[in-house]
Amino acid sequence: MKQTTRALRALSTKQRGLAAASLLALTLFIFSRWDNDGPEYYGPAVGLEGFEDDDGGYSYGALELGATSRQPLQPNEMCSWDTAQEAITFDKAVEKDGWPTKYEHMISESRALRHVFCPVCGAHDQVIRFPNRNLREEGRCSKCSSFNRLRQIAEAALPEVQRIAGIRFNSLKDLVQSNLAIYNTQCAGVLHNILHEAPRYVCSEFISTDVSAGSIVHGVQHEDLQRTSFNDNTFDLVISGEVLSHIPSPYQAHYEVRRILKPGGSHVFTVPFSPTDLHDQVRASVEEGRLVHHIEPPIYAGDAIHKNGILLYTIFGKETVDKLCMLDFNVTTHHLHVGAHGIIGKNAWVFVATKRV
Ligand SMILES: [Zn+2]
Repeated sequence: MKQTTRALRALSTKQRGLAAASLLALTLFIFSRWDNDGPEYYGPAVGLEGFEDDDGGYSYGALELGATSRQPLQPNEMCSWDTAQEAITFDKAVEKDGWPTKYEHMISESRALRHVFCPVCGAHDQVIRFPNRNLREEGRCSKCSSFNRLRQIAEAALPEVQRIAGIRFNSLKDLVQSNLAIYNTQCAGVLHNILHEAPRYVCSEFISTDVSAGSIVHGVQHEDLQRTSFNDNTFDLVISGEVLSHIPSPYQAHYEVRRILKPGGSHVFTVPFSPTDLHDQVRASVEEGRLVHHIEPPIYAGDAIHKNGILLYTIFGKETVDKLCMLDFNVTTHHLHVGAHGIIGKNAWVFVATKRV
């Protein structure tokens, strides 16, 4: 006790004030948790607010409370990047072959990848050429025209469908033989061309805010991924390639995807992702689903429906994994490097968010 008193005296008034404030904050925090099971999420308005820890870390505690139904979120359901399941092959390749890996090195010398198996269409012995350094969006399969990033989605999706269906599929094309309920968030492009004959395949596009969910416009189903027309627990597999980054409230969309996935079902997706950034870079602010102003200079991506392109709202950082875990997903991050399947380049990240059973 004497030692404690002496230690207290040694503190300046400011330090004592800080210590008292910390003690008060801790007491209030413990009190606030006393008769709660944990932070609660009130759907459907999703807003995850992160805050900096004193030690420089980052965590989530303040969930924006909005609307009606209560869905308690237990603290032990939260996870971090470290605890989310990871599937890293790129790092192993760098460890084995050095940087640049032998495949990237071959590309830098303008040489093609040979004897490639395409996990999208199942074609063997492909010669994959990369006409420029945009490795992620290049390297076409001569049979199905899939490029690097689409093969990454296939590579990550195939183990998921094997787990869900209990059958091994060699390529996405084989899913046409399956009875899986598949939702593609795009109605154009190579993956649509490959999958659209599957018996329980559904696709949609975002057409306009003036169109109601589920409407068919010129033969295409309109859905806003933040609020779709699908029933709960409908799909085994949801696929989205570079879609979430163009949605004003991407976590609202993730929450909606969770609703329409069956328990154990997976959302396999790619987004613009910066693995060295902790935080998502929000590039435009939105209120009630409408663009308010640009925080960063606008970037527009080409789109099959919208001729002027679609705005990039978010470039995702590592916090996206924490946020998905908080939305009750198990998350697997794939950092791929599978030269034999035409998958190269250090930006080969694919996320799998599986709805917890
Ligand atoms: Zn192919």
